Amino acid sequence: MFVDKAIINIKAGDGGDGAVSFHREKYVAAGGPDGGDGGKVGDIVFVADDSLSTLIDFRYKRKYHAEKGQSGGGGNRTGKNAPDLVIKVPRGTVIRERESGRIIADISGDEPVVAAKGGKGGKGNARFATPTRQIPRFSKPGFLGEEFEVTLELKFLADVGLVGFPNVGKSTLISVVSAAKPKIANYHFTTLSPVLGVVRVDEGNSFVMADIPGLIEGAADGVGLGHEFLRHVDRCRLIVHVVDVSGSEGRDPKEDFEIINRELANFSDELAARPQIVCANKSDMATPEQIKDFTDYVKAKGCDVYTISAATTTGTRELVDRIAEELAKLPPIKRYEPEPPAVVLDEHAGDGQKFEITRGDDAVFYVEAPWLEHIIRTVDMDDYMSLQYFQKVLRTSGIIAKLEEMGIDEGDTVNIFGFEFDFVF
Ligand code: GDP
Ligand code: MG
Repeated sequence: MFVDKAIINIKAGDGGDGAVSFHREKYVAAGGPDGGDGGKVGDIVFVADDSLSTLIDFRYKRKYHAEKGQSGGGGNRTGKNAPDLVIKVPRGTVIRERESGRIIADISGDEPVVAAKGGKGGKGNARFATPTRQIPRFSKPGFLGEEFEVTLELKFLADVGLVGFPNVGKSTLISVVSAAKPKIANYHFTTLSPVLGVVRVDEGNSFVMADIPGLIEGAADGVGLGHEFLRHVDRCRLIVHVVDVSGSEGRDPKEDFEIINRELANFSDELAARPQIVCANKSDMATPEQIKDFTDYVKAKGCDVYTISAATTTGTRELVDRIAEELAKLPPIKRYEPEPPAVVLDEHAGDGQKFEITRGDDAVFYVEAPWLEHIIRTVDMDDYMSLQYFQKVLRTSGIIAKLEEMGIDEGDTVNIFGFEFDFVF
């Protein structure tokens, strides 16, 4: 079965927690802090694999979770690094974040792409020793790895896309100009999955042609086969529009030509504007009048038209040369640029939330608020914007007001889930 769309869940590893540990040695009364940092964690990485041509594997396995980083240990031991989780996809797979639809990556090149980043490892207590705080009894927990659903969409990397009604001779054409061997038969919808063929023009010059299942009327509205497959022509630099000029199935070639163009336009304006070469195929079965009538009509519309017979290969060599000539003038195959995530921080995340604050024997203010754990583990405290956001949440939830009510002073320590801060007004 050919599958060109899939939805999977990816989650990069969570950062390992920092360790709280103290150095112990004989004859040493009180050792210093030696808790190590959490290890680096696994990212989710996508890479193109040319041995794959469908996304079928992703129908069976939907969850891809990278390993959590190992926690730090005593003796300043950093947690072991967790490996990246590398996901192989067919070349040409476009990855989008499902919820927003934004493009994360277009796996068309050879470079592996990181789609979800692992959380940073927490710092061990050894990092927090200062001249005035020689025995830090806390460490930082690791940050959470990114997690989201992504849609994978296979958009073939072909220079030329064949479009046209079923049975007009598309598969026959690709089979005579390339080594591709699609099924050819005198009934509709013989081509159920796209076929790619490399067309050799001359020494060192070739292009890739894609044969996709025939378009039918209403396909762009999702009726029947066709629409689903138009995405494979989406990247093509040139469209070769095949028409049965003999009208052998009792249809009018001019009408067919118009219907297909309407379908392309319904799919996208971009596709409708793509350069197009029209092939008046099955000319061996057509009368000279039929051929003249059709080619005149198409030319009057300003389109380039070639009279061929795929079955007897009449005119196919000239067609290939003409395609190569046109391709040389066109920009390279379309690549989708990744779109940056829209950062929406909900500043009211703290509204109406419950919390408890206790003051420990060590004079530290301990804040308990389960809802805050996720926020604190995702926010990067080394980042100014993140820090601002975090402070807003503390304010809107009333945590800051409560601390002030409890008589907190500038420079006092606040501890939330192991993260410690010096309080500043
Ligand atoms: P597709 O559905 O567009 O891929 O069409 P196919 O390539 O499968 O061809 C459909 C039928 O038309 C087959 O029986 C072919 O042998 C026949 N056919 C294709 N091209 C020609 C041609 O140039 N002349 C004639 N006489 N028959 C053709
Ligand atoms: Mg076919």
